[in-house]
Amino acid sequence: MKIIFIPDKSRLYEIRHQANALRMSSGVAGIVMLPLNTIAEFLQFRIHLFQPQEDSQNVAGAIDYPRRIMFINALGSINRQRFSIAHEFGHMLIHTEYQDEPSWVYDFRSPDPMRKKQPREQEADLFAAELLIPVELVKQQVMLFAGNLSSVANEFQVSMESLRYRLDFLNHEIVMQKEIFWIGFHQ
Ligand SMILES: [Zn+2]
Repeated sequence: MKIIFIPDKSRLYEIRHQANALRMSSGVAGIVMLPLNTIAEFLQFRIHLFQPQEDSQNVAGAIDYPRRIMFINALGSINRQRFSIAHEFGHMLIHTEYQDEPSWVYDFRSPDPMRKKQPREQEADLFAAELLIPVELVKQQVMLFAGNLSSVANEFQVSMESLRYRLDFLNHEIVMQKEIFWIGFHQ
């Protein structure tokens, strides 16, 4: 099983807030299948799908800040591309220190998916999940489809893996909150 990355509470809420605020300000707050192009337009970025060459086959995505272009690897599923785009939005919004770097920022595909990622990468993944699969919407959709997760994943246009991880994450978060409450209760 994949290890669940949960940052400390204030950072988690900040990332969640940034993702929700981005949905709100770009006018796509309640939309289940998130129109990523609308968000890109709002941020005044162009999304360019590139056909990987030998030297770029391990690049999942890259951000060209000066020209405001996001490059996304055209190979792989639509779900994967969507997650990469949302991940890059995360870097733009929660890792603003990147933007002063004159060079491009690359995201490499890990040859080993079980390898532990850098905290910054984990944060961008979390942002992507918060943006694509917001807490309230996923609760609503799981209810609506009576727990049929493949239908829910289709509605969000995310992979089953992303959806399962998201639900594990949210369950984990609830358990952690209960523990915190429990400790508080006994003090
Ligand atoms: Zn990244």
